[in-house]
Amino acid sequence: MGASAGPEIERLIALLAKLPGLGPRSARRATLMLLKKREQLLGPLSAALADAAARVSVCQVCGALDTRDPCAICADPGRDRSLLCIVEDVGALWAMERAGAFRGRYHVLGGLLSALDGVGPEALRIDALVGRASHESVREAILALPATVDGQTTAHYLADRLAGAGVAVTMLARGVPVGGELDWLDDGTIVQAMRARRPA
Ligand SMILES: [Zn+2]
Repeated sequence: MGASAGPEIERLIALLAKLPGLGPRSARRATLMLLKKREQLLGPLSAALADAAARVSVCQVCGALDTRDPCAICADPGRDRSLLCIVEDVGALWAMERAGAFRGRYHVLGGLLSALDGVGPEALRIDALVGRASHESVREAILALPATVDGQTTAHYLADRLAGAGVAVTMLARGVPVGGELDWLDDGTIVQAMRARRPA
């Protein structure tokens, strides 16, 4: 694909093409739209990106992304501190929050154990999780992990580790399809899965 616009515009297209769901063709269309709608899109988007880059960081408690640390969820006194929901990534946390099925707090692992990809326990935020389960007033740890091989391997490993911390370990139940990522489930399915959780 030869460069047809100027280098600044080609750079914008190349960056947008790295986003999930956008290939080079979609990135070109998006770029054209941005440049046509400078006032409504390009300016506000540029400001929002700069703001996010300057202010968003990882919550040192749970691993979520927010403009403050601890994040809004960890800092919320209305959240049930006895419930800890363990998710693979921030996308899954956002899906749980969209569904409104959970009023406790979260722990983001930052991935899943994977023998194939060489991801061991030390690559994930597992020691921090066990520490939280032991030292905070956590009564139940809910494993909200995908129904994939890696998700289930991780769930079993965590159930073992958390058993020693003296908390009840449960996992999401029916409604989560095999191979399903939480991010892709509709809200009703997530609510059902949370209500029908079972001992891990
Ligand atoms: Zn947090």
